[in-house]
Amino acid sequence: MTQNFEQIYERIQNAKSKAGRSDKISFVAVSKTRTVDEMKEAEKIPWIDFFGENRVQEAETKRASFAGSNLPWRLIGHLQSNKARKAAEIFDFIDSVDTVEIATRLDRLAGELGKKIPILIEVNTSGEVSKSGVAPANFSELLDFTASRENLSLEGLMTVGPLTDDEAAIRNSFATLRKMIERARTSTGLALPVLSMGMSDDFELAIMEGSTMVRIGTLLFGARDYSK
Ligand SMILES: *Cc1c(COP(=O)(O)O)cnc(C)c1O
Repeated sequence: MTQNFEQIYERIQNAKSKAGRSDKISFVAVSKTRTVDEMKEAEKIPWIDFFGENRVQEAETKRASFAGSNLPWRLIGHLQSNKARKAAEIFDFIDSVDTVEIATRLDRLAGELGKKIPILIEVNTSGEVSKSGVAPANFSELLDFTASRENLSLEGLMTVGPLTDDEAAIRNSFATLRKMIERARTSTGLALPVLSMGMSDDFELAIMEGSTMVRIGTLLFGARDYSK
């Protein structure tokens, strides 16, 4: 796994230099479907900044084995209202906020738990119906709402690129998110430092388009087995 990481890291560095960048790009090790043992192995790699999980239940089960670990966990999968309380308890960051309803609920729960939850807004930049995320047309309402919640700390935006080999279409999706975050910084006055985009198949394109956080599972851990 360390060897996989070294290869990924080198590709990140190359993409950064191609893009003329020297800023930090955070690394989310996407650990959905992975065992606790695999995750403990990944945790030893010093450049990994976060674990990323898609399901609240799976994360709750595994997180019990990480008492004393200080690697923060991010929820990157779609959040259903009935899982919001658990998500607010378990995760350090929630990256998939995509409706006013879920933001309302998380704000209230954070207040009850006496904490402030750092969040990202997930945007559906590709228009693929299978994808979660707020539609660009409804983005500004959600932006204004989340930016002013007392118990939520809006840190940026997240997207999943389209499932295609068409590099122009992928870049276009990432460029859309970058333009949205630039406008959002101006309209809210918030720093919004996090532009989370890029996965195993498209992280280099995402870095070219300004990503500050890549989310990588397959290249790090190997192909996922959903039958387990
Ligand atoms: C699964 C997943 C990833 C990681 O995908 P890989 O192709 O395995 O790198 C990243 N982001 C989200 C939202 C995911 O669901």
